[in-house]
Amino acid sequence: GALVIAIDGPAGAGKSTVGRAVASQLDLEYLDTGAMYRAVTFAVLRRGVDPHATDEVARVAEAIDLVIDDDGVFVDGVDATVDIRGREVTGSVSAVAANSAVRSEMVDRQRSWVLEHGGGVIEGRDIGSVVFPDADLKLFVTASPRIRAERRVAEIGGDVDEVEASIIERDRKDSTRSDSPLLEADGSTTVDTTGMSIDEVVAHILTMLPA
Ligand code: C5P
Repeated sequence: GALVIAIDGPAGAGKSTVGRAVASQLDLEYLDTGAMYRAVTFAVLRRGVDPHATDEVARVAEAIDLVIDDDGVFVDGVDATVDIRGREVTGSVSAVAANSAVRSEMVDRQRSWVLEHGGGVIEGRDIGSVVFPDADLKLFVTASPRIRAERRVAEIGGDVDEVEASIIERDRKDSTRSDSPLLEADGSTTVDTTGMSIDEVVAHILTMLPA
């Protein structure tokens, strides 16, 4: 049947790398829901809307045409693949993701995506708790903030202390918001990737699949 694997966890824990690898091993589609919240934030900033303007931001989320595929992330036909990873979007995404109307729009789109694709590996912050509480496998992938910062710097550069501070701040905002805060979902298994290679993490996850 349609296998659904939910992967949640804090910023920079390696969820995307691990999620993509697990999806490819199992021949499943992969959805990065963080890219969706980033794409809404991109659209909000591009239109000059204040990320804290609740109603206006909600209208942007509901109106945009959002395509995420192997070619990148496209917002109303504009290639946002690079910009959604930049400092500007990263600095405002937690505010946009705290907006309840934005969340309910994204959750709808995520559930439709899974129906269309017949399951998949879905990665984010609230997948096992809110979006797919009945997923076949629910994982909470994490690592120490220092390790997460070091990995990010190895990938995209920057200062480790600064990156660590910004990761800690984003985790704090994501964990303390009132709507769907980042938490370990009921029935999820924690995978602490500190000191593990990607291959080790992926192999470990594949042993957890239901028979
Ligand atoms: O995973 P990534 O770091 O790209 O996510 C960016 C932001 O999007 C997170 O910091 C969080 O605020 C938000 N997010 C969310 N729910 C999800 C996925 C991401 O609130 N399912």
